[in-house]
Amino acid sequence: MKTFHSEAAMQVENIDAYEALVQFLYRAPIGLVQTDLAGAVEMLNPMASSLLMPLATDAGLDNLFAVLDNVAPQVKQLADAFAEPSGVVCEALRLPLEQAYTAPGAPQVLSISLLKLDAQRLMAVITDATLEMQREQETLRRRLRSAARTDALTRLPNRAAVREQLEAMLARPRIGGGGQFALLFLNFDRFRQINDTLGQALGDQLLVTLADELLAAMAERGWGMPPGARRIDAAAGSGHLVARVGGDEFVVLLDGLRQRDEAERVATRLLDALASQHMVAGREVACRASIGVFWSDGMDDEAGSTAADPDAVMRDASIAMVEAKRAGGARHVVFEASMRERAARRADIETQLRTALAEEQLFVVYQPVVGLNPDGSTDHAAGVEALVRWQHPVRGLVPPFDFIGVAEECGLIDQIGDFVLLRACTDFMRWQRELGAAAPRLVAVNLSRAQLAQPDWTGKVAAILAQTGMAAASLQLEVTESLAAQDEQTQLRLHELKALGIKLALDDFGTGYSSLSSLHLLPVDTVKIDRSFVCKADTSHHHQVLIEATVKVASSLGMNTVAEGIETEAQARAVRAQHCAKGQGYFYSRPLPSDALVPWLVQHAGPGGRAG
Ligand code: C2E
Ligand code: MG
Ligand code: MG
Repeated sequence: MKTFHSEAAMQVENIDAYEALVQFLYRAPIGLVQTDLAGAVEMLNPMASSLLMPLATDAGLDNLFAVLDNVAPQVKQLADAFAEPSGVVCEALRLPLEQAYTAPGAPQVLSISLLKLDAQRLMAVITDATLEMQREQETLRRRLRSAARTDALTRLPNRAAVREQLEAMLARPRIGGGGQFALLFLNFDRFRQINDTLGQALGDQLLVTLADELLAAMAERGWGMPPGARRIDAAAGSGHLVARVGGDEFVVLLDGLRQRDEAERVATRLLDALASQHMVAGREVACRASIGVFWSDGMDDEAGSTAADPDAVMRDASIAMVEAKRAGGARHVVFEASMRERAARRADIETQLRTALAEEQLFVVYQPVVGLNPDGSTDHAAGVEALVRWQHPVRGLVPPFDFIGVAEECGLIDQIGDFVLLRACTDFMRWQRELGAAAPRLVAVNLSRAQLAQPDWTGKVAAILAQTGMAAASLQLEVTESLAAQDEQTQLRLHELKALGIKLALDDFGTGYSSLSSLHLLPVDTVKIDRSFVCKADTSHHHQVLIEATVKVASSLGMNTVAEGIETEAQARAVRAQHCAKGQGYFYSRPLPSDALVPWLVQHAGPGGRAG
């Protein structure tokens, strides 16, 4: 291996132009390495060997690609893939060095550019970018200190600060795939509910605690937060940023990454850190989070669908966060372009649902629930279940499955739920007046989780009952298993409703979390056995046994049972044989609009309105 160090160059008397150049390159405060196309080093100056030495393995500095293999394998890939006869292979690729290499005063970040000189040779230019990076961080910290970029509650950088930082990152040349970044968009699961329980002041305190925990988890990762640093400095340690961008929304911006894995590892770490209980005013609070990860690589190669500005990056990350929540929360999901389309479709449904509410495109249908009397007769006036429908001007009739989920996510479920409840109670009272004994004795209304989280929802239900003059005992609210088995807060709400005298039913029993053994823990009056069991009631011994066991356990706890989705006479006979108290399904009637339900009830009213 030759070096730029030449004995002739030491004779300063008669230096020709070539020697002057060699001298200059030899002493230059930048590292220069000339290699062949396979990376074998032909020449390097002392600065290059001193900068690269910490990276050298046993093989020494013989081959540049081998030296960079651990920290920047992409340099070799880029050189191999570079087809032009000459030109820039990669420019100012930042290489953060592992802490093990970074003795005090030693470079912490290198910057590498690679040029193809001709068909045989490559030239690498290597500099110590530590100072440059520190200056950038200092500038960032100074900027962050201004109040306009600080969140007043947590003293973390705010959305404006994140936008500014992202802007700088996006403007940076990413030629050669270097300097990747990731944006982690974090939102706490069911925070609104927690906030309602704790009250605003303690909710705020919880957010400050959570901000601290995020900072601590990032510090543990070895990123930033020098001891005693001011909070805003800590939030911006090592070019990474922890910020609060909305109510319970936080952003963690990670710079100088090489692989997506690194970002995912940080996400996992943050979720782990948040998984334990949080202390607020001497109370332990559980509060988990969902994280959407935006990864900068791939931004350029998805034609057309690129996220090129800070708002688009944040929006994409938040779309992935919503996907994480949809998948059950307490997890991270990496953004993919296809999610944008799904999110757009949901946003579309949301907009149209708002119109639907304003223009009264929603209406309620009622499906009869019949009593399966022990004497073999059928009580057609036992009850009805209210089911919401959407008459869309273009799509026609939209089933609840297609919009309830979106309504829950965007908060419209409160309005929809209120509408259905008021409509159902109003219709119920009208039937009482018009049909007398043939009128249903109970109306069931389905509930979503989000509705129960509304502050003073119980008060609202009581007000609707008072407004319509309806007796609480005539109203049945249906909750799914997963909802009823939820946290303390939900249980509390259910008990409040029971205290009003309202009946509670456990919907779709058998499909969810709870089992027969935990039925006694739930404050319900009725168990509705899911259609997936009932449809096999007459053919599968296994399902018969399950139905029989459910009826037995329920009745031992003083609960009623309803078999859902009875479609055939054989199924009806089978559930009756298991002493199921009530049945519901197409065999008796499909859900009907109110004006079709009335004749159905009249037609099926036997002597005294009961038999059939
Ligand atoms: P659910 O409460 O279990 O309601 C029963 C569903 O089964 C209804 O579907 C009903 O039309 C259907 N069904 C009844 N009998 C039969 C049968 O014999 N065979 C078959 N194949 N299906 C039968 P729908 O109306 O599409 O509602 C689906 C779900 O949407 C409901 O399940 C309920 O969880 C939810 N939902 C409906 N209306 C509301 C509402 O106003 N608020 C809320 N939060 N959820 C609602
Ligand atoms: Mg139901
Ligand atoms: Mg059901």
